[in-house]
Amino acid sequence: MKKEIPYQRIKRADFTSGMLELEQAARKAAEKAYAPYSNFKVGAAVRLANGQIVTGSNQENAAYPSGICAERTALFYCGAQYPEVAVEEILVLAINNKGKLAASAAPCGACRQVLLETSDRHQHPFRVILPGEEEAIVLEDNRDLLPFGFDASNMQ
Ligand SMILES: [Zn+2]
Repeated sequence: MKKEIPYQRIKRADFTSGMLELEQAARKAAEKAYAPYSNFKVGAAVRLANGQIVTGSNQENAAYPSGICAERTALFYCGAQYPEVAVEEILVLAINNKGKLAASAAPCGACRQVLLETSDRHQHPFRVILPGEEEAIVLEDNRDLLPFGFDASNMQ
């Protein structure tokens, strides 16, 4: 048996206006990251089904596990403020200390789990966009980031 993960690589020249809009929002968010320990500033921008764009950045802590990633900052804010509204897409980027985009910054395992729960919660899979300087990796279905993920069906 084999499981394949469909994704696209989209050259920067082919970014849609929607991608650029989310990228700009995520970059602004990344600039507000609190990352004194890693110096790795991450921004996430979520487009909700109501058109609202919600952003988040990584928030670190001297007690390292107490910090949280940009994706979860944004998605938990969405859950708290717009609990009934599905996510349409999320863009995640990281900027290095020269202000350039790091190579496509893929969500960590814990964030993939939260992405999965978010799409399950609304029964609405969503697009994931991971831009770098030259191109973006785009997955149309967030669930492809976490094959064999843990969900509510595992608890029955
Ligand atoms: Zn994460």
